[in-house]
Amino acid sequence: MLERTGVPVKEQLDRVQPPPGHEGPMAVIECFQEIPCNPCSEACTRGAIASFTDINNPPVLIREKCNGCGNCMFRCPGLAIFVIDESYSDTETLVKIPYEYLPLPEEGTPVTALDREGKPVGLARVIKVQQGKAMDRTAIIWLAVPKGLGMTVRSIQVGR
Ligand code: SF4
Ligand code: SF4
Repeated sequence: MLERTGVPVKEQLDRVQPPPGHEGPMAVIECFQEIPCNPCSEACTRGAIASFTDINNPPVLIREKCNGCGNCMFRCPGLAIFVIDESYSDTETLVKIPYEYLPLPEEGTPVTALDREGKPVGLARVIKVQQGKAMDRTAIIWLAVPKGLGMTVRSIQVGR
């Protein structure tokens, strides 16, 4: 399925989502294929992405060490890393997504939330647009999405 559609299956996603009841932000690494790549591990100064014994292995998150800072996100050429905080509020989940399109959304505005297949799934609020020289052209968009959509929203549509 992943090889054919580019969309991971539920069993794969279940393995990488934050454990139920987890408080605070945590990386969700949706990188399941064997490819020669490891900048995510090198970007994490907390050692929360295990050192690669074989560069072709998929990354392994050491959950206890991850604080959801997102430093690994803009270093990932596959845009495969997200951060989720289910404890953000009673009604919303915080989802940080890597974003390389223009225009960038404006903080405080609503945008259409899209799933992994690009289908609209609801509205999201743009909390923060994180950019920096070190991030090159990859912005990190912080979104507040309705509870229950944290593992669904993976992109946005701006301005329509
Ligand atoms: S979110 Fe931060 S702490 Fe977690 S794996 Fe990425 S760089 Fe490391
Ligand atoms: S940097 Fe991204 S694509 Fe490369 S191994 Fe890490 S998660 Fe996968």
